[in-house]
Amino acid sequence: MKVRLPEKLLEKIIEAGRRVFPEEACGLIGGTDKNGVREIKEIFVLENIDHSNEHFSMNPKDQLNAVKEMRKKGIIPLGNFHSHPESPSRPSEEDKRLAYDKNASYMILSLMEKDNPVINSFHIENNNSEKEELEIF
Ligand SMILES: [Zn+2]
Repeated sequence: MKVRLPEKLLEKIIEAGRRVFPEEACGLIGGTDKNGVREIKEIFVLENIDHSNEHFSMNPKDQLNAVKEMRKKGIIPLGNFHSHPESPSRPSEEDKRLAYDKNASYMILSLMEKDNPVINSFHIENNNSEKEELEIF
């Protein structure tokens, strides 16, 4: 699976992560999925109702609204993103345990190094994670 993320949407994710730092930011990603290439068209920043630096739960009502908006725009849900304020850009044990959708792309932004945000996209299945090819353009 290859994932393409426009630079301005990456900036939106970084901004979301910095805004709620040291809490985790989270949200949904939407776009198109053709011939094994996922093109991200929109980022929906949602409230982390856990307000925690180690967990996130997306506000269910916001989630529903985001999916409705995607439908309106003719794009599909591709997965989600969240930030790791103090840890690297890879799924925690909990992230793996809670990843119920093997068709989703799980993007994780690390803000551990303040001036050097790192983002990766993962496929998670049966408690195993695998990095997806991510192209920022
Ligand atoms: Zn996490």
